[in-house]
Amino acid sequence: MAEPRKADLLITGGTLLCMDEGRRVLAGHSIAILKGRIVDIFADGNVPYAPLESLDASGCIVMPGLINAHTHLPMTYFRGLADDLPLETWLNEYIWPLEGKLLNSQFIRDSALHGAAEMIQNGITQIHDMYFDMPAIAEACLEAGLRAIIGGAVIETQAAIHASDRPWLEYLLETRQRYSGNALVDFDLAPHSIYVCRRETLEKCAQAASEHGFLLHMHLSETRGEVAECLHQHGRKPVFYLRELGMLDLPAVYAHGIWVDDDEIELLASAPASIAICTECNLKLASGILPLADYLKNGVSVCFATDGVASNNNLDLLAELDLTAKLHKAVNNDPTFLPAEQALRMATIGAAKALGIAARRGSLSIGKDADICVLDTASLAGQPLYNPYSQVVYALGSRAVRDVVIAGELVYRDGRHTRIEEQKLLRDAQRYRELIARELRA
Ligand SMILES: [Zn+2]
Repeated sequence: MAEPRKADLLITGGTLLCMDEGRRVLAGHSIAILKGRIVDIFADGNVPYAPLESLDASGCIVMPGLINAHTHLPMTYFRGLADDLPLETWLNEYIWPLEGKLLNSQFIRDSALHGAAEMIQNGITQIHDMYFDMPAIAEACLEAGLRAIIGGAVIETQAAIHASDRPWLEYLLETRQRYSGNALVDFDLAPHSIYVCRRETLEKCAQAASEHGFLLHMHLSETRGEVAECLHQHGRKPVFYLRELGMLDLPAVYAHGIWVDDDEIELLASAPASIAICTECNLKLASGILPLADYLKNGVSVCFATDGVASNNNLDLLAELDLTAKLHKAVNNDPTFLPAEQALRMATIGAAKALGIAARRGSLSIGKDADICVLDTASLAGQPLYNPYSQVVYALGSRAVRDVVIAGELVYRDGRHTRIEEQKLLRDAQRYRELIARELRA
């Protein structure tokens, strides 16, 4: 008999939603993981592996980890502090002044760690973040074991005086160098939006992204007001302005993309760009409903995001899929619009393509990184089960997430974090709540 092969982790017995080209759904299959990668996927039975660790996923759905395409991890401590307000009031009177007073590396790291733990709990294995102090966010993600592409926000308003004084490109290059060779964190370039960056700065961002191979990450056309301002200031619709700046030639993820015209959608369709949909946040701030059917019809790449906790107020990506699918079925008067499988593809392999990491992540495929989410279906809400895709999107939700593997490591097992102590996060959140509440009263 042949020697059993080596594996660090073996996940056995689950129903695999591979989210690969072949759209494979494999019942009763196992995944062998070695050195952070998937090395084998095979039918249960004669197990040819002697793993260091095993995870029994019988009765579970096993799928690639979710990818959250637009987040602000360090804003987690701002959850629920100023709700039911217009976006401008919320930003100008609460968020930006508080950030000006409170932000330092320790705050950013602690708040980001809370957010990172919450992401993992919700089956998210990779985020695409935008904020200040990239190293503090990186340290939090490394501590929790979460993958992240972190964009140092470039922002130029009086209210946002906390932006680093140092030249942003130098800072970004230095940070990327400092963490190079790291499996979990990477960095990109995040000019916040058209309305808080000058033309010269956006041109420089485009040039730097092209020269140094950075993905671009930006807010786009979230409100009618910002579109009107762009027309007034620059004489162009936002997407046409981006083209003029040279940004449309470059890989980019644009968050929101609500108020776009047909000719802008056509431009985006021919660009290496993706739209990160933030439905809950857009509904809560009454920003609007994006033209999802038009995006999809024109072949624009679209993925899902929670945006920051401060505006959402949760980091539940599966809830975004559920809500978005239902909302746009109603908007389009078409129950066949955005089926559960398509929504889940957009949150896994689709988002991986948007972030330029599809060769390594986004599906359960041999050779790819072992970023995996296991959902328990042995619950009242999980049974009976006819279609695993619709079960995940419409029935199970994030509360069914039982285990999460990132880079081959079980960072969340049986509903518990393995790297971080949840009780400490709760104590820290309480401590910061008091600090923030004091500032709000001041
Ligand atoms: Zn945002």
